[in-house]
Amino acid sequence: MELLKQRILQDGRCYPGGILKVDSFINHQMDPMLMYKIAEEFIRRFQDCPINKIVTIEASGIAPAIMVGYIMRLPVVFVKKKKPKTMENMLSTVVHSFTKDRDYTVCISNNFLTPEDHVLFIDDFLAYGNAAMGMIELAEQAGAVIEGMGFIIEKAFQDGGNLLRGRGIRVESLAIIDSLDDCMIAIR
Ligand code: 5GP
Repeated sequence: MELLKQRILQDGRCYPGGILKVDSFINHQMDPMLMYKIAEEFIRRFQDCPINKIVTIEASGIAPAIMVGYIMRLPVVFVKKKKPKTMENMLSTVVHSFTKDRDYTVCISNNFLTPEDHVLFIDDFLAYGNAAMGMIELAEQAGAVIEGMGFIIEKAFQDGGNLLRGRGIRVESLAIIDSLDDCMIAIR
């Protein structure tokens, strides 16, 4: 997606350890006009999939996911990173966080992820695919089908894309970063 690529080159910043900071338009301050266009592009790419629900993981996936849900008129559910004491019928799994380098338990109510669901999973970044694998595990527990996974930015030099595509998941990434070596952003 050309507009997104230009924005990453203009405003993205590289950090050691293969981290791309996009907190002036995605991760902290958000650009809703760009987010809307991102959502339209996800919808275009997944238009042939029988999706009835958008699922994401808090926090940075929520903004693009709600835009997609709004345009498609579909419900949006976010996977929580903390177990609420009041949640009943909870499905949970453990995910390793690449940016924070720790494991955490993620959960979703099985009232909102059911065998009737055909899910489009949306997230900001695809790195090693840990969050996405957690989503696959939750969908398996729920008996839901994952129709596809859409990421705003995929870092192709980390292995999440290969992992997911190797499992037969339909993956669409709107910008693919080939390298962040020497603090240079190389976009495909
Ligand atoms: P994964 O689970 O694929 O290893 O990592 C994806 C998650 O880690 C995303 O939800 C995102 O929040 C975070 N993440 C991974 N790499 C980056 C990065 O380069 N920059 C930012 N801002 N977040 C990242």
